[in-house]
Amino acid sequence: MRSITVLGATGSIGKNTLDVVRRHRDDFSVFALTAMTQVDALAELCREFKPQYAVIGCADDAVKLERALAPQQTTVLYGQQGLADVSAAADVDVVMAAIVGAAGLRPTLAAIDAGKTVLLANKEALVVSGQLFIEHAKQSGARILPVDSEHNAIFQCLPEQQQQQVGHMDLAAAGIDHILLTGSGGPFRDLPLPQLAQQSPEAACNHPNWSMGRKISVDSATMLNKGLEYIEARWLFNCQRQQLQIVIHPQSVIHSMVQYVDGSVLAQLGQPDMRTPIAHTLGFPDRINSGVGGLDFTRLGELTFKQPEPARYPCLQLAIDSCWEGQSATTSLNAANEIAVDAFLKEQIGFTQIAEVCDWVLQHQPMFHCASIDELLQLDQQVRERARERVKQVAYV
Ligand code: NAD
Ligand code: MG
Repeated sequence: MRSITVLGATGSIGKNTLDVVRRHRDDFSVFALTAMTQVDALAELCREFKPQYAVIGCADDAVKLERALAPQQTTVLYGQQGLADVSAAADVDVVMAAIVGAAGLRPTLAAIDAGKTVLLANKEALVVSGQLFIEHAKQSGARILPVDSEHNAIFQCLPEQQQQQVGHMDLAAAGIDHILLTGSGGPFRDLPLPQLAQQSPEAACNHPNWSMGRKISVDSATMLNKGLEYIEARWLFNCQRQQLQIVIHPQSVIHSMVQYVDGSVLAQLGQPDMRTPIAHTLGFPDRINSGVGGLDFTRLGELTFKQPEPARYPCLQLAIDSCWEGQSATTSLNAANEIAVDAFLKEQIGFTQIAEVCDWVLQHQPMFHCASIDELLQLDQQVRERARERVKQVAYV
């Protein structure tokens, strides 16, 4: 039996994780569940999974959660320290890192530094800290298993030796020419370009194939999600620029591919349901039931592919450029995007202004070299301030 902490248990990935765990109650004991503000939802999960610890965002909510849970045997903690504690605790084997945004970095790193098996959904953590994140894992011996469906697909298509070397594999030595990162193109893939500016948060969150949290849904509509995934892939698979290509695949049946030098292409296919990659990481190296049905190839219809249009997805190019510019650029882009997406979801700025805010901030933010996580998080805070100022300047009201 393995003991698991689920960071971000009330979110889309968190709930899907617990759905898989529920099918394998004899194989997992839940050590801790965490959430930011959703006291009731977390309390309900605690009543079902009876974790030793529950972590909520602030002290006031911790009191509410304790009341909701009494007389149960779950200890309630709160804030950053609580998250770090349940990620690094000696009794924990596996940590699902499913907090959204850069806020997930510290707790995820706490699990990494404690040498845990980290199931990594929180791509922003890796985008914000890249090389340092990978170095921390190397030092502690932590195992990183990618949960993001594309990276999980790529991982599944790699030779076993490379699977053991996440973060520092040599793709060329493994006979790999390049990785093909697929993306659906989001809900606005076929919308006439002039209509993009008027799109509402509801329209942006209405993804054609995947059901996800609101932030990543907006990122999918701008394709910055694919940009963050490009940066994520660069670190997980130690890619050079020519080893990474993005292709639009509207049906989301192929979740990504690996092109070998002999002309073979390996792909991982499946339903667009995150329980598949989650179950893959929970069971690894064994295969376990995820609750997801198989594909019926006689009903699939066409699988199509095309290149992303630069005019439709300006955020994608920003991400690719910052990936090769360096760490400060990707940290800054991520921070600016989190502020811009939040402003869009609050209807303070329009859809196309997300890219404009990110671009403006990247051009006006003085970059500095960051040698530590603390410095990266300082830069992250500075960029957020600048992005908030920019949002105020361009906001409707
Ligand atoms: P979500 O918004 O549905 O859930 C986020 C979770 O994190 C919630 O439990 C919330 O309480 C918690 N949280 C939010 N802010 C926090 C903070 N500041 N401190 C502590 N906890 C906080 O998000 P999601 O869609 O489940 O995505 C989670 C992560 O997984 C993201 O990084 C996303 O990019 C990645 N991911 C998601 C999907 C998907 O299908 N949803 C797919 C691939 C990768
Ligand atoms: Mg993905």
